[in-house]
Parts: sequence; C-alpha cells; structure tokens
Amino acid sequence: MKPIVFIHKMNAENQQQWLDAFTHLLPKECFVLQEQLSDEDALNIELAIVANPDVKILQRFPNLVWVQSLWAGVESLIESFKQFNQQKQIQTKLVRLIDPQLADTMAEAVLTWTLYLHRNIPEYSAQQRNQIWKEFPCKAAQRMRISILGAGELGQASMQRLLQNNYQVNSWSRTHKEFKDVTHYSGDDGLVSLLQNTDILICLLPLTKQTHKLLNKQSLSHLPVGAKLINFARGGIINHEELIVLLDSQHISHAVLDVFEQEPLQANSPLWTHPNISVLPHISASTNLQSASQVVADNISTYRKDGTIPESVDLKKGY
Ligand code: NAP
Repeated sequence: MKPIVFIHKMNAENQQQWLDAFTHLLPKECFVLQEQLSDEDALNIELAIVANPDVKILQRFPNLVWVQSLWAGVESLIESFKQFNQQKQIQTKLVRLIDPQLADTMAEAVLTWTLYLHRNIPEYSAQQRNQIWKEFPCKAAQRMRISILGAGELGQASMQRLLQNNYQVNSWSRTHKEFKDVTHYSGDDGLVSLLQNTDILICLLPLTKQTHKLLNKQSLSHLPVGAKLINFARGGIINHEELIVLLDSQHISHAVLDVFEQEPLQANSPLWTHPNISVLPHISASTNLQSASQVVADNISTYRKDGTIPESVDLKKGY
C-alpha cells in the first residue's frame, strides 16, 4: 500500500499524538511526513491527511487522489485547491471532517452561549462589578426565538439541542429543507423573515463568496431591537465595524464572537474591549483527537476496501 502523507503546522507533541492514533487504528498503513519524502517518492502519494497545511506544499504531490482534513471548516483551503486542480488531469478531492462528536460539541456550545445570553449573564456580570442589584426581564424558553443560519452538520445538531431545551427554533439555509418542530427559511426573502423573528441569532454558515460579510448593518437591522448574536462559524461572515454601530445604538444588545478574520484577534481590535461583546478564542467546537482519528481511519479503511472516497467538498459552491 502507498504511504499516506501527513501535512500540518502542529507542534511536535501534537504531531506525535495524531501519528500514534493513526498507527494504532490502522497498523498496516505507513504514515509519513512530507519532509521525509524525496520529490520522486512524493509522486507516488495518492492520499494525504492535512491540518492547516501550507498549501504550496501540496504542489509536491500532483497525484493526490484525495485529501482528508482534520478540521470541519476548510474555507482556507478552497481557493488554493481550485488552483491546485487547475492544470491536473486527476482532480484531487478535498474531504472535510464530519464527526458526530464535533457536531455534539458545537451543539453544547450553542446551548451554553444561548443560555448565557437568554439568562442575561453579561448584564449581571457587569452589574456585580458595579455592585448593582437589579433584575432583568427574562422570557420563558418557550417564548425565545433562536434562529440558526446554516442547517448542515453543525446547524442540525444545534437545532436538536435547542429544542430539547424548549426553545422556539428557526433555521435558514441555501436550499429548502424541512425539520420537525423547526420553522425553516431559505433564500434572500427567507433571511429577512427569519431575522425579523429572532431573539438570538446563531451563525453556523460556511464562509463563501455569498456569505462573506452577509451579516452587516443592512441585514442585521432586520433583527428586532435588543436581539443578540452568536458567531461560531467564520469571522469573515460579519462586518464587525457595522456590528459595533448596531451594538452602540443598542439595536443589538450583545454579541458572542468566537471567530475572527485574523486569529488570534489583534491586540488593538476594538472588539476586545466593547462592553457588549464577549470574545472567545475559537473554542466553540475543536476537533477531538479520539473521535476524529476514528472517523479518518474509517474513511481510509473504506477507501482501501472498495475505492470509495468520502463525500467531498464542492469546490464550486465553496463548502
Ligand atoms: P455544512 O454541513 O456544509 O452546512 C453548511 C450549511 O450552510 C448548509 O445548510 C448550507 O445550505 C448553508 N449555506 C451555505 N451557503 C449558504 C448561503 N449562501 N446561504 C444560505 N445557507 C447557506 O457545514 P457544517 O459542518 O455545519 O459547518 C459550518 C461551518 O462551521 C464550517 O464551514 C466552519 O466554518 C464552522 N466551524 C466552526 C468551528 C468552531 O470551532 N468555531 C468548528 C467547526 C466548524 P444547504 O444545506 O442548502 O447547502
């Protein structure tokens, strides 16, 4: 069997943990690092596992059949993948991580930070710092409208978790869908209707040409006054300058931001110190080594058995 190349930007300790997991699950496979391969050996490689790879390195492997990412979001790879494929006969497929454990972790984060906003925790924290004893109004969960942008792997798991907590759930995606107990919207008109019926908006969309800065002053102004926002997807989906304008005017009362165009968030970013923004360091749903290595091992075993390549990213659509 041809070796599998592991291309990443991890430190040595993390690299070893992943290699140990892969060799434990797939003892007959040979995993190599790209720097261990001569240019001639590299021509022989048809399968790569990647984590934030330097995409220029992929050029060394023109005969790759498919590339398995260890992350669920592959936005940063799409454009370079298109270029990589441009002059090639074999179109290399890009497979992102689809791991139920990761979806479950995201659903947990969605519930956690929805409760944080619903139960006014930022306001009570601010009050404590100023020794203020004052109760804020708080609707019952059944009367809270939580809207999820994106109804894919992570959106669907999150909907279920919110329903279990008795919230009213709305969702929005590009194509029409139906989910039990969820009001689903699609298309541009659908987005406006969804925003108008939202108390807490949660973004779980991929970053594409269509979703870039989708959440801006114009779109977010459709939210009712006092609505709240959570972004667990990608920073580029929000126009942060315009979000600050809406927060300053109290049209939006609070935003939880886990993802930013530049990460780590720059020290001089006004997002750090805004009283109505909670900044998180991209932690809503990190890849879990145990479950992800099992998903990847299963994908590789199936490929070895019958040549099936897991469902891959649609490079034209961008997700
Ligand atoms: P997914 O399964 O591909 O689902 C994407 C959803 O977004 C689909 O429902 C899709 O609609 C919808 N969508 C895409 N473009 C749209 C558009 N222009 N208008 C309306 N809806 C659109 O993706 P996923 O696994 O749920 O992951 C979503 C994103 O989460 C990832 O791309 C990544 O950026 C982010 N993520 C963040 C973290 C973190 O720790 N913060 C961790 C993992 C992933 P259709 O169903 O109609 O195609």
